[in-house]
Amino acid sequence: MMPRLDHRPSPNHDERAVGKPVDILLLHYTGMRSAEAAVKWLADPASKVSSHYFVDEDGRIVAMVDEDRRAWHAGKAFWAGETDINSRSIGIEIANPGHEFGYRPFPDAQIDAAIALCRDILARHAIPPERVLAHSDVAPLRKQDPGELFPWAKLAAAGIGHWVEPAPIAEGPVVRRGDSGAAVTDLKQRLRTYGYGLGRESEFDTETEAVVAAFQRHFRPERVDGIADPSTVATLERLLATV
Ligand SMILES: [Zn+2]
Repeated sequence: MMPRLDHRPSPNHDERAVGKPVDILLLHYTGMRSAEAAVKWLADPASKVSSHYFVDEDGRIVAMVDEDRRAWHAGKAFWAGETDINSRSIGIEIANPGHEFGYRPFPDAQIDAAIALCRDILARHAIPPERVLAHSDVAPLRKQDPGELFPWAKLAAAGIGHWVEPAPIAEGPVVRRGDSGAAVTDLKQRLRTYGYGLGRESEFDTETEAVVAAFQRHFRPERVDGIADPSTVATLERLLATV
């Protein structure tokens, strides 16, 4: 059942690109000190940013841009060959001060509302589970949201998104910034296959580190350090095996 919506129209939208299906659901945190300031910013013509929906900490949902319009939430981004993520996505901003202003757990009422909203969106658009993404997945060098406290497992239990139980953290060989060679090349290839944007250099560079951290925030949130440890690699393999 669609949750009740408040409406606060944002002028920040344009036409979706012709010929691109809406097949990504992109989740964000607002990263601002207060929810009210975030809604105001998303509706301010000077901000040039917006999202289709906003979810407050108490579970109130605000519709801001019609789903048939292109909202401006992804910025410079990439996923699985696509750079115009805004044309292909529905964006949801979830109120949280974020890593800059006091990152904190998302309240149950907020997550319950977000789940109801996502289920409603997924019932109306052909969005595959593996294309329900974090902003950090599509912009790993710039973004951390919605971050490692976001309960992706709870969403998956409600039928939203692609998720496997993360492989337990264990001792073993790691690849990390500064490394190069076959293990790095293989890791980067697997991350690219899943959808992440990564160059083809054989070095584990700062971009690779950011992508590994983004992967961990979403799929192995217990430790986010940008180091490809055995648990990270095994979790990636489990995901690739279940796409
Ligand atoms: Zn974001």
